[in-house]
Amino acid sequence: MGLYNRWLQECRSKHKDCVKTISGNPVDDVMGPELPTRVLDLGASNDTGIVLLESKGERGNYCALSYCWGPQTTQTFLTTRETLQDRLRGIEFELLPKTFQDAIDVTRSLGIRYLWIDGLCIIQGDTQDWKYEAGRMGAVYEQAFLVLAASGSSSAQEGCFVVKPRDLTSLDLPYYTETGQIQGCVHTSINNSPMSLSPMDGPLQKRGWALQEAHFARRSIHFMPGGPTWICKEMHLDEKGLESKSDLKLQKGWDHVLEDYSRRQLTYKHDRLIALQGYATELLKIRIKDMYNRGAFLSGLPGQLLWVVNRSVPKSEDIDEIPSWAWASNGAQKTFATNHTRLLPIVGGRKTRIEASGAFAVEGRIALCHTEVIRDDEDSACDENSSGSGTPSTGFQGMRDFISDWTCQPMFRLIDGFGPETKRFRGMAVFDREEYGTVSFLPLMGTMLWGHLMKITLASF
Ligand SMILES: [Zn+2]
Repeated sequence: MGLYNRWLQECRSKHKDCVKTISGNPVDDVMGPELPTRVLDLGASNDTGIVLLESKGERGNYCALSYCWGPQTTQTFLTTRETLQDRLRGIEFELLPKTFQDAIDVTRSLGIRYLWIDGLCIIQGDTQDWKYEAGRMGAVYEQAFLVLAASGSSSAQEGCFVVKPRDLTSLDLPYYTETGQIQGCVHTSINNSPMSLSPMDGPLQKRGWALQEAHFARRSIHFMPGGPTWICKEMHLDEKGLESKSDLKLQKGWDHVLEDYSRRQLTYKHDRLIALQGYATELLKIRIKDMYNRGAFLSGLPGQLLWVVNRSVPKSEDIDEIPSWAWASNGAQKTFATNHTRLLPIVGGRKTRIEASGAFAVEGRIALCHTEVIRDDEDSACDENSSGSGTPSTGFQGMRDFISDWTCQPMFRLIDGFGPETKRFRGMAVFDREEYGTVSFLPLMGTMLWGHLMKITLASF
């Protein structure tokens, strides 16, 4: 435990950014922030009983646990409406799942009195309580003094300190004398592989809910079979004091967040937007003039509309109630074009809005174009033809590669005008239907300003 304290001391004494939330507000690490609605009160010493506390605005420092719940059969100790009064009177340490027990031990060893665990501090099965708390979850994790992440465990029963069986990671190879006597052994081990230290390789970071927990934590300790890793805003260290190879991506743009998120699993498909709601709520505190609807921020709308499905990975279920333009409607792993190309969307200059109903409305000029299949040897021709016609030539190749890599659909270029003299390249498209001889479309990218002024609304249905 001395190691955790050393990390904590270093962070508290030297790191100015680690006292700030994502929205830049400082958290009072001395008095502690306002506690979440309910927390576990671990008492003043190790011998004190544990109770669930309804904080009613009290302040204090608390740790928050990030963990995989695991299969339903292993979820043995949760707070429900029926058990709430019991929990407020006291909680038997021995009855708790191993991961909760380990988190309590670590929290106590750091001299911190309170611990937040969703399964105990949110009333399970109570839709109203759950909805309210789910929206605040980003704040709970970012105001936590420290987040304890059971990154290497796949259920609450496994505990934080998972150790891989030795025989899976090492092997003793004997070597012999000329007469066949064993002379000794060579010990081989893959235990020190940097991969086994990276929290991204553990089961927790494959889980959708863990994304905002990881991104919002100001400081966290990730427990992995290869040892613990410290991650705060200014320091990534493994237990040997070496810079961690962790590729946990923090504080990137929303398109990056969405891309990471689409690679994660959710038990319930209807959590797809809810598990990001806390994140969006916190970001809206900085983006005061922005709007957020169905997983998209208005300020970055074109990039968030331009996603491509990775067909090689099995997908989760689609959600019919979410409009089809929204990434959340589709259960597949996705790549967002703006993360990989230099094309700059400029839809922001037009009248655009996302309506409360989930409709996305934009005013612009509709273009009428013919379509032609793009062949590989025509790439350069496309670029040439595009110059001066308003289509951005930079990034075209990147965009084309991006779409080719991720879709199995034929790609078309959109040609404005009839006959070779007037033929101008206006863009490219992949269609999700069979008929595509002549198409009308609303150019969202580039500087194309021709055609008829139109107003379109992509509604939910
Ligand atoms: Zn720090």
